[in-house]
Amino acid sequence: MFFLRTLSVAPKLPENIGELSKLAYNVWFSWNPNAWELFRRIDKKLWEEVGHNPVKFLLNVKQQDLDNAALDHDYLNLYKKVIQELNAYLEEETKFKNYHPEHKDQVIAYFSAEFGIHESHPTYSGGLGLLAGDHCKAASDLGLPFVGMGLLYKNGYFEQRINIEGWQESRYSNFNYHQMPVRTVTNNDGSELIIPVEMPGRTVYLKVWCMHVGRINIYFLDADLSQNAVHDRSLTGQLYGGDRENRIAQEILLGIGGVKALRAIGINPQAWHINEGHAAFLILERLRELVQAGIPLVTAMEAVRSNTIFTTHTPVPAGHDVFSSELIDKYLWQLRDQLGLSGEDFLKLGWDDEKYQFNMTLLALRLSLFCNGVSKLHGQVSREMFQRFYPNIPVEEIPISSVTNGVHVATWLAPKLRELLDKYLGSGWHNDISLPKKWAGISQIPAQELWNVHYKLKEKMIQTARNNLRGQRLRNQESYQRIMEVNNFLDPNVLTIGFARRFATYKRANLLLQDKERLIKILSDKAKPVQIVFAGKAHPADYPGQELIKEIYSLTNEEAFRGRILFLEDYDINLARTLLHGVDVWLNTPRRPMEASGTSGQKAALNGVINFSVLDGWWPEAYNGENGFVVGNDVVCKDEAKQDKNDVFTLYSLLEETIVPMYYDRDHNNIPRAWVELMKRSLLTIPHYFNTERMVMDYCNNFYVPAITRWKRFSADNYELAHQLQSFKQRLYDNWHQVSIVSVNTAADRVLKIGEEFKVEAVVELGYLSPNEVSVEVFCIDLENPGIRNINLIPMSPVNQISENQYTFAGKCIPPQGVVNYSVRVRPSHPDFEHNFEVPLVTWAQSF
Ligand SMILES: *Cc1c(COP(=O)(O)O)cnc(C)c1O
Repeated sequence: MFFLRTLSVAPKLPENIGELSKLAYNVWFSWNPNAWELFRRIDKKLWEEVGHNPVKFLLNVKQQDLDNAALDHDYLNLYKKVIQELNAYLEEETKFKNYHPEHKDQVIAYFSAEFGIHESHPTYSGGLGLLAGDHCKAASDLGLPFVGMGLLYKNGYFEQRINIEGWQESRYSNFNYHQMPVRTVTNNDGSELIIPVEMPGRTVYLKVWCMHVGRINIYFLDADLSQNAVHDRSLTGQLYGGDRENRIAQEILLGIGGVKALRAIGINPQAWHINEGHAAFLILERLRELVQAGIPLVTAMEAVRSNTIFTTHTPVPAGHDVFSSELIDKYLWQLRDQLGLSGEDFLKLGWDDEKYQFNMTLLALRLSLFCNGVSKLHGQVSREMFQRFYPNIPVEEIPISSVTNGVHVATWLAPKLRELLDKYLGSGWHNDISLPKKWAGISQIPAQELWNVHYKLKEKMIQTARNNLRGQRLRNQESYQRIMEVNNFLDPNVLTIGFARRFATYKRANLLLQDKERLIKILSDKAKPVQIVFAGKAHPADYPGQELIKEIYSLTNEEAFRGRILFLEDYDINLARTLLHGVDVWLNTPRRPMEASGTSGQKAALNGVINFSVLDGWWPEAYNGENGFVVGNDVVCKDEAKQDKNDVFTLYSLLEETIVPMYYDRDHNNIPRAWVELMKRSLLTIPHYFNTERMVMDYCNNFYVPAITRWKRFSADNYELAHQLQSFKQRLYDNWHQVSIVSVNTAADRVLKIGEEFKVEAVVELGYLSPNEVSVEVFCIDLENPGIRNINLIPMSPVNQISENQYTFAGKCIPPQGVVNYSVRVRPSHPDFEHNFEVPLVTWAQSF
C-alpha cells in the first residue's frame, strides 16, 4: 500500500468571527442551539450535507458566505452572544468546586468503548454510548476534574440502509477525522504523541485524538498509523465489528493503551471508572505499573481496587464480554509474566468456573471496590446474577449497588420547548435542574401554549420522517407513485406512537403487532386513528433482530397499514432527537427484567412525550400511577410466550380504553385538556431526577469522592495501608474455617409484648481471630417483603471470654410490632472495609 498524508485547505475565517473555529472544536456547540444556528445560518444546505459537523462545515463553506456573515449585523450579534456564553461556561466557578473543593485537581478517568456525543462523531451503537456521552457532558457542566478515554473508530458503527425487500444493509464509511471536532495530541516538539502497546509478536502504535467537551476532554485512540501493519491499522476500524480476536485486541488497546496514553499526556487519575466490561483491562495495566515499581502484586491489587469503579450495563448474560483461555493466553502472556503470575492464577482474575470463560465483568467486579448497576431493578438483577460468587451471603447484601441512569437535559430538550420553559420556570432554572422546585412552574404553562409547541415539534418530526422514507425509496429506485405518496404519510392531528431503539430481540419491537386484526381496528378508526413510527438498527451479526426489521417493513407495505406504520432507516442521534421531540407516545416493550435502564424514555418525558412502557429499567422508579402508562405488570413469567401474551393484552386494551380516548378528548379549542395535564405531570415528576446532573452527582458522592480519598490513604507511605489491609484479608481467608457459632440464647419467649426488649447472646468460636476482627450480629429479615430495606442488623458486642478462642457476644433491641425472622452471624470486620462483605466470608448460626 502507498503512503498518504493529509493536507486540508480551508477558507479563511474573517477576523471578527474568528472564534467560530474554537466553537467548532468544542462539542459544547452540540447542546447549545444558538451555536448550531451560527453555522446553520451561513449555509443551511451545507449544514445538513455535512451532518451538522461544524469542522467539516468550516472546511467546505464558501469564502463569500463567510465574508457576508462577517458583515451581517444580526449575525454578529448572535456570534458575540454565543462566544460570550462559551467563554463564560469555560471560565465560570463550577458546582463541583463548591461541593468538593478539596478534590478539584484529582482527576477521574472514565473509560468506555462507546461515546455517543453528537451525530457527527459516530463512536456509539446505542444506549451505552449515549449514556457515556451524556455522562461526560454533565461532568463538564458540574466542573468535575474528569477525562474520558475511548477508541477512534475509523469506520464507526454501521450506517443502516433498508433495501427494497426490507432487509437491513450495513454500510461502513471511512471517516476522515481531520474533518471532525477532534485534534491529535502532540509532544512538546510538535510531533504526534505515539503510544506503543504490546500485542502477540509485535507492537501496535496508537495516535491519540482529543475532543473538547465543554470543560473536559475525551481522548480517542487510533491505530490507523503507517507504522502499523495493515491488519493492525484496522483494529480501530469498526465498533463491535470483527471476531473475538479483533475484540480482545480492541479491548487491550482501550484498557492498556488508555492507561499508557493518560500517563504520556501527564494525567494521573485518582479514580478510575470502567464503563462496562470492555474497558476492564485498564486494571491489568495499572497492576503492571505498580508491580514494575516494586509493589507486591497482592498489595497492588488492593490498591488498584481501592479507587476503581465499575458500572455493569446489561442483565442479559450474552451481553457480557467473554474470552477463551487460549485468547487470553495468546494476547496477555507477556503481561502475565510481568505480573509474575502462573497461567492458572492469571486466568482466575476473570475466570467463570461454570462457563469456562474469562469474563470481563468478573474481572471488573473482583478488582473494583465500587460496583453498580444502572437502575434499582438492574442493581437487584445484577446481585442475583452474580450471587453464585458470594456464597451464603444474602442477595440483598451483595456489594453491587445502583445509580439510575439519566439524560443530559440541554442535549435532549427541544429548543422550542426550552424557550417555553425559560418563560415559565424562571431564569436560571437549567442551572439547578435536579431541584424539583425549579420545575414547579410547569403547572403554570397554559395548555394551549404547551400544545402548540408540541404540535410544531410534531410537524417537524413528520417532515423528517417523510424525508427519510423518500430517501429510502429514491435510493431503492421505487416507482414515482411510491415516492410521491410519502408526502401524505403521517398526519400531525393523529395520535402518534414512536418506537425507536436498537433492534435486540429482548426489546420486542413486534409486540404491538401480535394481533393484526385488533391493530388494524385501532389504527384505522375513522374518528380516532393512530399511527406508528419505528426506527432502529440490529447488530450486523444479529439475524433475529434483522428479521424483526423485515417483519415490520413488510407490514408497512400492507394496504391496511400503508402510511400508518413507518419504518425509518439509520437511527442515530439526529433521528432520535427528532422522534423524541415530536411523537405523542413513546413505547417501550422490553421483556422484563432485561432492560438495564433504558434512557430514551427519559428523553421523551423531558419533551412532554408520554411513556407507555413495561415496568422495566428506570420506569418502575419514575412511574407514579399518573405520569404515563404501563404495559403489563411487574410479574415475571418463566414462560416467555406467556409473558408476551400478558403484555400484549394490556398493550391493546390500554390503548383502546384509555390512551386513544384521552388523546382525542378535546375542548372547544381542540386542545386535549386531560392529555396536556398528563404531559405536565410527566414533565413535573420525571426530568428533575432522571438527568445526568443528578446521576453524576450520585457517582461523585457514592463513588468518586470515596475512591479518591481512599486512594490517597492507600497509596501513602509506599502503599502501606493497601499492604496492611491485604495482609488482614489473607489472615481472614487463612483462619475463617475455624470460626463457628457454638450456641445462641435468646432470653425471650417467641412472643414479645410491644416495647419489650429482645436480648440475644451467642457463644462464638473465633480460632486465631480476635473479637475486634469480626462483627457478630443479629440478622433480621422480613421474609414476606425481601429487599435491601427489610434487613435489619443488630450489633452484638463481646461481653465475656469463655476460653482462649471462645467469646460470648450479646446484643439487644426493641423490635417493632409484627413477625420477623432472625439469625446470628459472624462476618469479617475492619474500619477500612467499604462494604459489609468486602471479603465475602460469613458464618451463620446453624440451629438454635
Ligand atoms: C437514547 C438513545 C438510545 C438508548 O435508548 P434506549 O431507551 O436505551 O433503548 C439509543 N440510541 C440513540 C440514538 C439514543 O439517542
